[in-house]
Amino acid sequence: MTEFKHFINGAYCGSQSGKTFENRNPVDNSLLGLVHEGGRPEINAAVSAAKAALTGPWGKLTQANRLALLHKVADRINERFEEFLVAECLDTGKPRSLASHIDIPRGAANFKTLSDTLINDPTEAFSMDTPDGTGATNLGFRKPKGVIAVISPWNLPLLLMTWKVGPALACGNTVVVKPSEETPATTTLLGEVMNECGVPPGVFNVVHGLGPDSAGEFLTQHPDVDGITFTGETRTGEAIMRAASVGLRNISLECGGKNPAIVFADCDMDKAIEGTMRSAFANCGQVCLGTERVYVERPIFDEFVRRLTDTAKGLKLGVPEEEGVNMGPLVSLEHKDKVLSYYALAVEEGAKVHLGGGVPQMGGELDQGAWVEPTIWTGLSEDSRTVKEEIFGPCCHIQPFDKEDEVIEMANATVYGLAASVWTESTSKAIRVSQQLDVGIAWVNSWFLRDLRTAFGGAKQSGIGREGGIHSLEFYTELKNICIKM
Ligand code: NAD
Repeated sequence: MTEFKHFINGAYCGSQSGKTFENRNPVDNSLLGLVHEGGRPEINAAVSAAKAALTGPWGKLTQANRLALLHKVADRINERFEEFLVAECLDTGKPRSLASHIDIPRGAANFKTLSDTLINDPTEAFSMDTPDGTGATNLGFRKPKGVIAVISPWNLPLLLMTWKVGPALACGNTVVVKPSEETPATTTLLGEVMNECGVPPGVFNVVHGLGPDSAGEFLTQHPDVDGITFTGETRTGEAIMRAASVGLRNISLECGGKNPAIVFADCDMDKAIEGTMRSAFANCGQVCLGTERVYVERPIFDEFVRRLTDTAKGLKLGVPEEEGVNMGPLVSLEHKDKVLSYYALAVEEGAKVHLGGGVPQMGGELDQGAWVEPTIWTGLSEDSRTVKEEIFGPCCHIQPFDKEDEVIEMANATVYGLAASVWTESTSKAIRVSQQLDVGIAWVNSWFLRDLRTAFGGAKQSGIGREGGIHSLEFYTELKNICIKM
């Protein structure tokens, strides 16, 4: 039986309590292995290893050597690409075609992304007058923040974890990672890569476990954690913010969304259909940036609904390794129950179901898995729960609109503010509308197009803070001002 162990101070270990939980394959609910559940002893050991490593060989590395080491980590992930790919697909059930294009290569690249920013971004310097006329100079100086707790979700396990670990380490911090209980595999494997590349013990630590009253909560409460970076649900973000308030620790929160797409009549319809197909159904709809609300200008509404439905009918559901598959199962049976409860709710709330709404017949063992149908609705009111709440499944509701002001109001009528897509061939309209949307990221005629130097994060209840490029540098370092009197 495979065991997913903690990785603390450069070595794999089980839990003192002997407690484990199951990791199951969402494709057919078969058992993949047992995950050790970390408690306070494991969190204490990991945080103290991370703290000690700050002043050990890691803390003494030059910036150039540290970045070279992280480039080696990226290269080693790519050398072991197939193992990471298999592990990610077993944990999530996602198509190999998707994970081999996004999850694993981006997961590796995250160890290189901040290098250029670190090397090229100047810190501030100000000269000032003083009453005695000699003057003074102020120099900005960046230090690592210290021990960073990284709490990550299950939808893009390697990518979203390294999106934080890469920049945190590039800035000279050490980390303790608590990966999602649903997807422990690739984070565990990364420990081996760290050792192979010669990353000193204690720099990268992993403790498995659950959230409340388990490893997640114990980690965020630990007084020697200097900063917490989290991706996951908004409610969990609130709990983490409360924990971080004790001792005034820094937080970066990337949380949920209920993202709109706005499709104007002057759009390139082919592009809008292709983009909305990806934004609604990629990764079985389990992308924080995904579109669950589509607003279409009335003259093209019927055509858009018909074309999106026809195209979505062509989605091929299947196991990760099957050729031509573009949709896998949801991550777990628990999440399947949640998504199906919204499929039932949508009908109760009066939706017209254009596609899906249920469970596909996959046949054989696969019928034990977490499969749901891609689903398209129209006809719901804007205050229905289906339109208001994050479902995180392969589904969207399409609403017609008549006026620009009206659609901006509808798009903004949510507690969330992560991302939006605007589809129009008019540049001025695209800019005007994007500027009025209360979101952290607005795409025009695209979706999920990411330049890793740009700010990533959400407005309103979708998060606090930004990561990416200079913004990661801000979060993962402490900026000190040194004032020198002449
Ligand atoms: P989740 O909040 O349930 O879990 C995320 C992580 O937090 C897990 O590791 C979990 O064990 C841990 N956790 C749970 N309770 C905790 C607590 N009290 N203290 C400390 N840790 C705790 O989220 P999920 O279901 O894994 O992921 C899906 C959610 O993540 C969706 O809401 C999605 O929108 C969001 N998400 C956001 C982004 C973004 O960048 N904004 C990206 C991906 C996913």
